[in-house]
Amino acid sequence: MIIETNSPEETFAFAQKLGLEAVPGQIFTLDGDLGVGKTVFAKGLAEGLGITEPVSSPTFTIVQEYTDGRLPLYHFDVYRIEEPEEMEEIGYDEYFNGDGVCLIEWADMIRELLPEDVIRIRIRKVPEKGFDYREISVEGMKE
Ligand code: ADP
Ligand code: MG
Repeated sequence: MIIETNSPEETFAFAQKLGLEAVPGQIFTLDGDLGVGKTVFAKGLAEGLGITEPVSSPTFTIVQEYTDGRLPLYHFDVYRIEEPEEMEEIGYDEYFNGDGVCLIEWADMIRELLPEDVIRIRIRKVPEKGFDYREISVEGMKE
């Protein structure tokens, strides 16, 4: 499935809808270059889950937990992961197999640790289509 957006608000709204419909144990991976809108997406997903705490990029920790919503959100940024052991240390499998919703930014970096059953979100710019245009591809979503 491909979604096209033309503003941060549209990207936010799409993610919010996914958050509203998310079920326990769901894992979203989120890839895309710097500045494509991953944080916009994360904020929308959190809003859809009913989270009111401010969501930002988990820059200094691998995972940030938000627990004041309908379901817990575990927001990973694995950009700086160099060894799978770093994921072991934070007990990643407890999160992946838990009853919350996982959102994993830069999931390509830990591809070998991901379960099969994930929803893969990829955001990209298409310069010819304008500054605010984003193509969001979604794979693995059950209809
Ligand atoms: P990332 O987390 O991927 O580095 P951010 O979400 O922090 O990116 O920033 C995305 C930037 O792109 C924001 O300034 C946002 O306003 C802008 N933007 C413009 N158009 C869009 C769009 N269609 N979807 C998401 N963000 C957009
Ligand atoms: Mg970001």
